[in-house]
Amino acid sequence: MRLSRYFLPILRETPKEAEIVSHRLMLRAGMIRQEAAGIYAWLPLGLRVLNKVNAIVREEQNRSGAIELLMPTIQSADLWRESGRYDAYGKEMLRIQDRHEREMLFGPTNEEMITEIFRGYVRSYKDLPLNLYHIQWKFRDEVRPRFGVMRSREFLMKDAYSFDLDQAGAVHSYNKMFVAYLRTFARMGLKAIPMRADTGPIGGNLSHEFIILASTGESEVFCHADYLDFDIPPADTDFDDIPALQSTVDRWTSLYAATSEMHDAAAYEAVPADKKMSARGIEVGHIFYFGTKYSEPMGARVMGPDGQERPVHMGSYGIGPSRLIAAIIEASHDENGIIWPEAVAPFDVAILNLKAGDAGTDAACQKLYQELSAAGRDVLYDDRDERPGAKFATADLIGVPWQVLIGPKGLAEGKVELKRRATGEREMLSLEDVAARLSGHK
Ligand code: ATP
Ligand code: MG
Repeated sequence: MRLSRYFLPILRETPKEAEIVSHRLMLRAGMIRQEAAGIYAWLPLGLRVLNKVNAIVREEQNRSGAIELLMPTIQSADLWRESGRYDAYGKEMLRIQDRHEREMLFGPTNEEMITEIFRGYVRSYKDLPLNLYHIQWKFRDEVRPRFGVMRSREFLMKDAYSFDLDQAGAVHSYNKMFVAYLRTFARMGLKAIPMRADTGPIGGNLSHEFIILASTGESEVFCHADYLDFDIPPADTDFDDIPALQSTVDRWTSLYAATSEMHDAAAYEAVPADKKMSARGIEVGHIFYFGTKYSEPMGARVMGPDGQERPVHMGSYGIGPSRLIAAIIEASHDENGIIWPEAVAPFDVAILNLKAGDAGTDAACQKLYQELSAAGRDVLYDDRDERPGAKFATADLIGVPWQVLIGPKGLAEGKVELKRRATGEREMLSLEDVAARLSGHK
């Protein structure tokens, strides 16, 4: 992408309404624009990051055996009356009437709809287990939308729903998602800690919130510091290996970790003093086993091998890709701007033409731009007629991981400068070496 032809509306001023750094940087970097309270347009740079985050979420969901579909944003109130949640949900639900005065709503979540889809087709244990997910916009009329896309009213959610014959099967489905979540967040450069969460009236242990530690987080959390060094399950994890998966989950739940709602002061006392971590955290994911809570009232029943029909056991598993982007920025920035982990960066490489209009510099930039693009890298070529300082500032603000600075001085010696955003390290290399390095680098 040539910057001169791109749409990157960078703000020079720090927006006054933004209280936390991720919100400020997303506005300044031209990633999002507020259209109404808690409702944002995703500008081209923001959308690039959102797409990369979604791609990782999708890969890890698919790897674990979940299957993607797409449900609508608008749902019928009658569906929610079946579960009893239409009245229970309260003011967070955006209720809508169509021209025939039918009651509709903008979905805050999809348990009812997925249960309706399931009961329409599945009758037998032979079709289980099943895990269906989608990545779709949700609306919750939050009392206090704030912090940009961190707590917005319209937000993106990946929500998966598992179906099993019995509780044992459901636990395995839960464990698959647990492991998939560990991998998903780690791939984005985040250390997410699964923390025990409230299961409500169903009881049991099977609900975890995945929390990123950050001073601006809205939750108060308490955990054992060793979680920060735990190994992430590998890409070749066998999701059908029930005992192996269980032991991974057991290990990841063996130490103390809870949010303030679930905090057990006595148990936390037992954590060695030098391992006690009490901090603020951001919830980026939430997984939940809820048994037959929806299948029972909604009549989603399956035939077991014994010929008996019973309500199917379900779980639901959410990740907020839009909130995640803010969380990544909270975890990874400096005074100059965002530092994207390579896996979610909007562009892999920025080429900074330090003297646009100079024939030699233009040619060198153009050559590298074409080579890296042909190698499949996402390249932002700053070909604008701007002073170098402005180009450095832009590339740093939007956080491109690798920056190649090309000017007549270096070229006279056959060199360009390669800068790594995360560390500030710089190296003088030949154009060929930079091309080889960056096209192979993935
Ligand atoms: P919170 O406790 O932060 O209000 P929640 O418990 O209501 O979240 P879930 O219903 O578990 O959220 O939703 C799944 C995921 O969707 C959350 O883990 C979070 O990543 C994301 N999410 C929920 N609400 C919002 C919101 N208002 N803005 C952005 N993302 C959200
Ligand atoms: Mg939650």
